[in-house]
Amino acid sequence: SRFFTLRDYPTGTPPRELFELRQHELPALDEGEVRIRNTWLSVDPYMRGRMSGVRTYVAPFELNAPMEGAAIGEVVESRHTRFKAGDKVRHMAGWRDVAQLKGDVLESLPDMDVPDQAYLGVLGMPGMTAWTGLNRIANLREGDNVLVSAASGAVGSLAVQLAKAKGGTVVGIAGAADKLEWLEQRDIHAVSYKGKDARQLGADLEDACPEGFDVYFENVGGDCLEAALDHLKVGARIAICGLISRYNSEAPDRGPSNLANLLVQRARMQGFIVADHWTEYPHFLEEVGPRVARGEIDYAETVEEGLERTPDAFLKLFEGANRGKMLIRL
Ligand code: NDP
Repeated sequence: SRFFTLRDYPTGTPPRELFELRQHELPALDEGEVRIRNTWLSVDPYMRGRMSGVRTYVAPFELNAPMEGAAIGEVVESRHTRFKAGDKVRHMAGWRDVAQLKGDVLESLPDMDVPDQAYLGVLGMPGMTAWTGLNRIANLREGDNVLVSAASGAVGSLAVQLAKAKGGTVVGIAGAADKLEWLEQRDIHAVSYKGKDARQLGADLEDACPEGFDVYFENVGGDCLEAALDHLKVGARIAICGLISRYNSEAPDRGPSNLANLLVQRARMQGFIVADHWTEYPHFLEEVGPRVARGEIDYAETVEEGLERTPDAFLKLFEGANRGKMLIRL
């Protein structure tokens, strides 16, 4: 098996050399174990937190040990009664080509008419995050005006489409021109944050939705949050999903200077971790899965080829080089 390890905990943007590709011979299967040839790997922004060497809501990666992450693969050998060769499974032993795990930690892929890798993106953890943040944290209602940052990413691209289906004005903040175009094609007002401070971004939000927002789905933080706080309707709900603009930052967060708007607008801001809501995953699949299968929901993917590219794919998340879910195909 070939796998990536982390040589050290970085400060700032992780350098590429921090990731080391290693190889080891896997032992014969023990009773209850399964060997899987991974076909798709996921890289996600939260992995940066696991590289910080401190425990947050999840333990840090162990140095010089195989890294982890969501993956999909095919069973090649099994000594577990529930699995046989050829079965497709999802598990957390990513960042490697071949995984050997206890069968109990494997999930069979649901039987829906979607490509396997959808279970790492729109119908996997990121999709579940969009659905949870909107419905269970921000209490999305018919006609709500919704603002989403990192709006063309894995989480954001589903969030804008679920919000749009509720009939209100939806505005998405994103970087590159092709992302803005993707949003506009879906009748979502697209606002670029590039080269703008909070005040300039705020002026664009004002143009896009003069009424203000009932819901803000936050993926970025910094100037996006500051600008959003100036455009809340009374009773607005803010779901703090992620703050990616600061994951590689060495300086302490400045924080928004206009928190008083929460008070003035009687707004609520709440963070959440999708893992706490995982018992709802079947409901999410039931609701969103058929819409994806029917082609009503468009999920973009950015695919890197080959295990060697896994760290590059991960680092690209912080450059905004992905539209939709960032994946590695093996
Ligand atoms: P994305 O697919 O959205 O990829 C990250 C995107 O973030 C980039 O494409 C880029 O888009 C944007 N970005 C990166 N750096 C910056 C920056 N400095 N300023 C502004 N935008 C930036 O990733 P995910 O959909 O997987 O994750 C989105 C957010 O959701 C992250 O913050 C993540 O941590 C969070 N998350 C939280 C979960 C939870 O349980 N709370 C679970 C899953 C994800 P652009 O070109 O538009 O800049």
